[in-house]
Amino acid sequence: MYHRLARWLRMLGYDAVYDQDFVDQDFIHLAKEENRIILTRDEDLKRRAQKLGLQAVTIDAPTIEERLIILHKELGVELALPEEFLPRCTICNSEIRVIDSNEILDQISEITQLHYKEFWICKNPECSQIYWRGSHWEKMGNTLKDCREIIELDKSTED
Ligand SMILES: [Zn+2]
Repeated sequence: MYHRLARWLRMLGYDAVYDQDFVDQDFIHLAKEENRIILTRDEDLKRRAQKLGLQAVTIDAPTIEERLIILHKELGVELALPEEFLPRCTICNSEIRVIDSNEILDQISEITQLHYKEFWICKNPECSQIYWRGSHWEKMGNTLKDCREIIELDKSTED
């Protein structure tokens, strides 16, 4: 699966595993063990997985919007920002928790402290990524809105 797509899925609340060192056998093993859906560019891997009774989707599209739309159509992935901010760390897939900005003053710029009041931190101590609803969040919301508009447009031209 594409790394960026994995981060998007986590942002949308889905438990997504990504490992650039994975070979086909790893995908199949993990899908079996943890009941996961394989997302791949590789038709052969998809066919092999399906023969074993695993769910697999081919994502062969150049843009993040098109990839997300495929996931929406194939798997019903909801293309909207979660109301409760991030359900998962987009870096490591762990859960995140609210953190008081006083506890992380040395890790965020003064400008960020001035502009944002709510912060979150990844629960995984090896990651500890800090999040806030910055411009990145807004951009993601716009991308998702674009996706929804494309889907609506497709629907209206189909009718
Ligand atoms: Zn993390």
